Amino acid sequence: MKRRLIGATLLTVLAALLVSVSMGIWVFHQREMDDARQNLRELLTLVSLGSPESDPQSVAAQFAQAAPDKRLTLIAADGTVLADTVADAAAMENHLNRAEVLQAASTGWGEAVRPSETVGRRMLYITMRFPGGVIGRVSTSISSINGLMWKSVGGIFLASLAALALSTALAGPIAGMVLRPLNAVGDALQAVLDGTQESPSLPRYERDGAVGPLMSSIDRLVEQLGRYIDDIRAERDKVNLVLDCMDEGLILLDQEGNILAINSAARRLFGLGEQAGTGSILHLTRSRRLRQALRQVRSEQEAAMFDLEDAALGDRSLRMFLSPVTGRRFEGETVGCSILVSDVTELKRAEGIRSEFTANVSHELKTPLTSIKGFTDMLSSGMVQSEEDRKRFLTMIGVEVDRLIDLINDILKLSELESVSIAQHSEAGNVLEEARSVQALLLPAAQQAEVSITVDGASAMAAIPAARLKELLLNLMENGVKYNEPGGTVSVQVSTLGDRVVLTVADTGIGIPPEAQSRVFERFYRVDRGRARKNGGTGLGLAIVKHIAQLYGGTLALESRPGVGSTFTITLPMSGK
Ligand code: ADP
Repeated sequence: MKRRLIGATLLTVLAALLVSVSMGIWVFHQREMDDARQNLRELLTLVSLGSPESDPQSVAAQFAQAAPDKRLTLIAADGTVLADTVADAAAMENHLNRAEVLQAASTGWGEAVRPSETVGRRMLYITMRFPGGVIGRVSTSISSINGLMWKSVGGIFLASLAALALSTALAGPIAGMVLRPLNAVGDALQAVLDGTQESPSLPRYERDGAVGPLMSSIDRLVEQLGRYIDDIRAERDKVNLVLDCMDEGLILLDQEGNILAINSAARRLFGLGEQAGTGSILHLTRSRRLRQALRQVRSEQEAAMFDLEDAALGDRSLRMFLSPVTGRRFEGETVGCSILVSDVTELKRAEGIRSEFTANVSHELKTPLTSIKGFTDMLSSGMVQSEEDRKRFLTMIGVEVDRLIDLINDILKLSELESVSIAQHSEAGNVLEEARSVQALLLPAAQQAEVSITVDGASAMAAIPAARLKELLLNLMENGVKYNEPGGTVSVQVSTLGDRVVLTVADTGIGIPPEAQSRVFERFYRVDRGRARKNGGTGLGLAIVKHIAQLYGGTLALESRPGVGSTFTITLPMSGK
């Protein structure tokens, strides 16, 4: 920059000098010509005072002596050369055709600048018509006039050279002075860009008339830009936060199916690292359905939805909603399609459980209904003759109806447990008291099965309504009696541990094989269908227990050994804690 400035300055000085020197030369030339003209006119006037008509030769001789560097030609009115100080007049041709002679003949004075045919050099001719009609012509060579001019111009040249030298010497410091504010601004801005300084308004510039105002403008500009950048950042952070907090994955694709943007949830769902997630979407999954859906979105510009189940995803299902995007760009690329991805594994599992439950319920209902139908058919056909048989059949119908009622009651209980949420002011139930009341309830059945029930422990209040507590205890204790052997026992223990009430229901019954232990809490799961049916079980008792425990913040554990017995341990939050 500095060099260019110096160059430009010198060029300007040079051009100015060139113009002024040329003008000087021209002016000096004109002046010398005027002087020469004047000089020649004066000489002619002097010559006219002699007797050029009567004795041209001697006038010429006198002239040659007085002004040896000039030439005098005396020409008769008819153009004949009478005398000449340089050439032989007799040998000279008629001069009437010379412009300056013609001019003098007609106006009295004449002038011409042209090469001389006689001396061969460029000459200034001045002519005068003398009173007697003779024309006197005095001339001097242009080169001698130029010689005088160059002498005067020499000074100008020297002055110009001195000016050029001075400009060259001063150009550097002047350029430095001119550039100083710009350099200061540049340095300050660089410091802002480098991050070593927040704003360019350094105190040292404040009082500087040239830089100060510029600095404060730049300062304001930087401040304003900073605000804009902060706004943009805040906006971007907001969008990123929304995208990153979404449970659903969001992917933007270009027209070719390449990923333009992918949020954290989508990365997580596809098991990608933070850095991965570029290239074609088909690198994430080879799904044929995805390929088809992408084609459909692209060609028909219509949204598509499907569940992606891919070996790469394990046993998870992802629901993909593809929507066409038109006329939008992301970081300069045209967006073709957006994909919203949600994990529907749980939903599908729940759907599966629901449909399995429906199938199970239908089956469970069908079994007693088929029996009832069989018995009623037999009774109505009159095939059962004896009164005793008829009673037996009616009792069996009653048993099946009871089974149906039990089943429907359990289904209703389960569905109620699934739909309720616990109230804030939870009621409390005395675990020991409820266990004792269930013990009394089960006494006939226990006696019949030859099983003894004991209830011991501390009187503790659990944060669960008494009715639900009773339901839970009834299912556990009834199972202890049902799946027991004559002479066996069911012992119920109530204790407290920290802020929890611990309830154990241990029996000395048939036990549960290890592989079935995790499944007994599933709906309709029974280890031994025949025995369960004989005992009148619905297969929903433990599912109800699990639901109640979960609903009231309890925990559930089972320890069992086939042939030895089972222990169910439930912990419940203590009331008021
Ligand atoms: P059910 O109405 O058939 O008793 P549950 O849900 O109460 O249904 O129990 C599921 C299955 O778990 C029973 O069919 C039985 O095979 C097994 N089971 C439950 N409790 C016990 C227990 N105390 N001892 C042995 N097996 C049990």
